[in-house]
Amino acid sequence: MIEDTQRCPCGTGLRYGECCAPLHRGERPAPTAEMLMRSRFSAYVVRDAAYLLNTWDPITRPQSLELEHPDAPEFYLLEILRTERGGPFDVEGVVEFAAHYRGAARGVQRETSRFYKRDKNWFYQEAI
Ligand SMILES: [Zn+2]
Repeated sequence: MIEDTQRCPCGTGLRYGECCAPLHRGERPAPTAEMLMRSRFSAYVVRDAAYLLNTWDPITRPQSLELEHPDAPEFYLLEILRTERGGPFDVEGVVEFAAHYRGAARGVQRETSRFYKRDKNWFYQEAI
């Protein structure tokens, strides 16, 4: 659980209440693909499976997500390595990132992800 006044886990340096929390609560959409990526990372940290599923392409998303499993990786640090497009006036974009985790295992998940926007909402599509 993260309080609004705590630093957001996504790495912007902002407080959670001014960063990913309003996105998780559906108060506003992510303005860019990178911000959606960041908010999805923090959703893993705060174990908000509903947000992850809601921002996942309905075609590629899993039926459910088990984030409470004792062996589930504990993500703690996100690095955005590269972005292509994905801005406020784009309808698709690519974000390359490294997500560091610890817990039962320790390591880095490095992925290049594709995102698209429908209406005002960005969605995670797939790893490329
Ligand atoms: Zn954030």
